[in-house]
Amino acid sequence: MSRTSLSVVTDSVTARAPSKVNLHLGVGPRRDDGYHDLVTVFQALSLHDDVRVARANELSVAVRGEGAGSVPADASNLAARAVQALADWAERSGHIAIEIEKTIPVAGGMAGGSADAAGALVALAHLWKLEISRDELAEIAADLGSDVPFALHGNTALGTGRGEQLMQVLSRGEFHWVLALAREGLSTPAVYKELDRLRETRSGDAGDSDLLRRPDDLMQALAAGDPRAVAPLLHNDLQPAALSLQPTLRRTLRAGVDSGALNGIVSGSGPTCAFLCADEQSAVNVAAELSGAGVARAVRTASGPAPGTRVLGVD
Ligand code: ATP
Repeated sequence: MSRTSLSVVTDSVTARAPSKVNLHLGVGPRRDDGYHDLVTVFQALSLHDDVRVARANELSVAVRGEGAGSVPADASNLAARAVQALADWAERSGHIAIEIEKTIPVAGGMAGGSADAAGALVALAHLWKLEISRDELAEIAADLGSDVPFALHGNTALGTGRGEQLMQVLSRGEFHWVLALAREGLSTPAVYKELDRLRETRSGDAGDSDLLRRPDDLMQALAAGDPRAVAPLLHNDLQPAALSLQPTLRRTLRAGVDSGALNGIVSGSGPTCAFLCADEQSAVNVAAELSGAGVARAVRTASGPAPGTRVLGVD
């Protein structure tokens, strides 16, 4: 093999993409097109996936780590769709070998697939040395899925529309979380469907303006960097639907608070439960106690806000 072809074969870039928790998730009524408008405050967490892309003779996907067995290793993988979308934009072939190292739980409400898509976009843009603006990348990201722009952006942000229109939120200090991973995932569309069903059967509906109000009090607590002020303001409109589909999550939420967390919430569409703790030591204690309580498949600690998707290394 010649020197040149060897350098082509080994040329690869790895990007790291964060997971997310929704500190506030307000869901509007079902629209005629089936989507729901959202008002959400995302926080990116240190729990991450790494995505490596390398030049190859065809598109391929290999997935390792947390839940790898239930992630498609073909063109339907969100990272592969991201590669194809960027290849279309750059008018190049999408012959890329993708390797994903997962730590974000699959179908866990922490936007793992979106993180992988963001990782693939950032890594490939770097591999191809594309001159693409952050805004153009965010546009491609939004076409791939509502949570992909936030995985690119990271930190803390207010999301509107389907969650893809972002505005930076000031957040001071570091927040410490414990994550209880469930034994089985929840499908996001199924959770939205259950929310619609529960709302149909419920009387005294809140007005639409109430569902999509901006959580100003939460944003003030974040700016102050005070977890004790943030904790009681955590809110997720999808939580009743997730609990209705997986009633054992109630026990998980109770166990986290009993272990000393300030508050617990279902993350996004669930079933991962996220517990906000007063500080790092408290998070370690809560994680140890939750692990012993047998209410979760696995327990992790994480901190936020984490940075957006970034290049980790080039080989
Ligand atoms: P969200 O909170 O963004 O709605 P989620 O975090 O609950 O999603 P994901 O981990 O993104 O869920 O996975 C949702 C589904 O997407 C999985 O069941 C999986 O089959 C499919 N999927 C496609 N590509 C990926 C990927 N790269 N990683 C994880 N899941 C993927």
